[in-house]
Amino acid sequence: MKLLWIFLWIMASSCGVLQNNSFISRADGLMQNHFFAYALPYEKGTTHVVVQGNESLFSHAGDYAIDFKMKRGTKVMAARDGIVVRVRDSTKTGGIGKKYIGTANGIVIRHSDSTYAHYLHLQYKGALVSVGDTIKQGQLIGLSGSTGFSAFPHLHFEVTRQTGISREDFPVLFQTRKGIKFLQPLRWYKAL
Ligand SMILES: [Zn+2]
Repeated sequence: MKLLWIFLWIMASSCGVLQNNSFISRADGLMQNHFFAYALPYEKGTTHVVVQGNESLFSHAGDYAIDFKMKRGTKVMAARDGIVVRVRDSTKTGGIGKKYIGTANGIVIRHSDSTYAHYLHLQYKGALVSVGDTIKQGQLIGLSGSTGFSAFPHLHFEVTRQTGISREDFPVLFQTRKGIKFLQPLRWYKAL
């Protein structure tokens, strides 16, 4: 019996490693030259669980974005320095109906390498910055919520770059207690 458990544990952990390595080698190419260690987008010392990570199946299939489960009204902090280029916080509603797609409140911040961080599903009147504001990493920018296409209160974070007329998202690295990592679903991360 004991051997069986050891065998299962080795199988499970080696599969995890394999998956991780193949993701990391692809991610490397997908990031191009946009390497940056982002701060977790919430208050230092607080911990949140990632409910959907890069390429998760529910609403991130083929997507590079992270969903942090978060109570409504949780402080959202800037993951990187930049300039606010878009703010919307006029929506009060959210849910998983089609009519909610693209309606979330959110903040978009442009970074020095012309990439953009998107902080979505903020609560009504949950943006604490304005277009044109200069933002420092770790600065309070908004309050989380569940507006737009959202099944439960969370913060959706993604980074994009402009390629011609379209926008493309790509995986990014975060500062964690275990070093600079890609975040994994169903793991808790404490902001440093
Ligand atoms: Zn999401």
